[in-house]
Amino acid sequence: MKLAAIAVALLLPLVAGATAAADDEFDFFYFVQQWPGSFCDTDRGCCFPDTGKPAAEFGIHGLWPNYAKCRPTADDGPEAAASIDMVVDDDGSHHHRRRQKCWPEYCNNSNNLHPWEIKDLIKDLDANWPTLSCKGGGGGSSMEFWAYEWKKHGTCSGLGQHDYFAAALDLKRRDGGLAGILAAAGIVPSEDERYLLSGIRGAIANATGAIPNLECNRDAFGETQLYQVYQCVSRDGRTLVDCLLPMSGKCSGTVKLPPF
Ligand code: AMP
Repeated sequence: MKLAAIAVALLLPLVAGATAAADDEFDFFYFVQQWPGSFCDTDRGCCFPDTGKPAAEFGIHGLWPNYAKCRPTADDGPEAAASIDMVVDDDGSHHHRRRQKCWPEYCNNSNNLHPWEIKDLIKDLDANWPTLSCKGGGGGSSMEFWAYEWKKHGTCSGLGQHDYFAAALDLKRRDGGLAGILAAAGIVPSEDERYLLSGIRGAIANATGAIPNLECNRDAFGETQLYQVYQCVSRDGRTLVDCLLPMSGKCSGTVKLPPF
């Protein structure tokens, strides 16, 4: 009995320490997928990776730990330097602004992505998480994009490198593909059609069982188009939940879904 009590006393701080480190970091994940047509038709354009033109399907952007409530940060000091420094209106009628940190990022800058850790996933990642960046002239490997996402967001996820990328791929597979979900609701890529934002959100909510957030951007002519779909995932990295946080998203009532 006495021995057991001593063992518990010795073990407790270890267990508590282990959970505290992961616990206070974030509340849920945003699983973010991107419509390549909307990435590519802006003023900046895009470049295809070394594996060629990606499929006309939403691609993964990232799996991002997020706080349920933004946290105020000091205006100076190391906290602020490490934070997003997002400026948010406290209240619509006031113009009092505060610096807020709404998600953790760069939780371990010495934790670089090791290609060999995700060796068995690379084919799957190339197909589902392609870079569209023109950095370095474009045409490069998507590995740089994955390494960036890992360093910025993955290191805060509490997951190891392999588990982090496998979790994102599993989430993407689960919904059978957002393009298919939208097509089944009559929402197909088009040069001139405009779709109700509520119709897009509803179609995804019906098919996945969870309400997503949507983000828009503008094409080269200034037209608003669906850019990214944010699905909310509980801390286990597996369970889809409703997105409850409002997001500005830069969308209007109707948006385009440009061909890719
Ligand atoms: P994040 O910092 O994780 O929010 O990601 C934003 C950064 O990712 C920006 O620099 C974007 O230009 C970049 N980005 C977004 N989509 C892609 C993509 N498909 N390929 C490469 N870079 C991207």
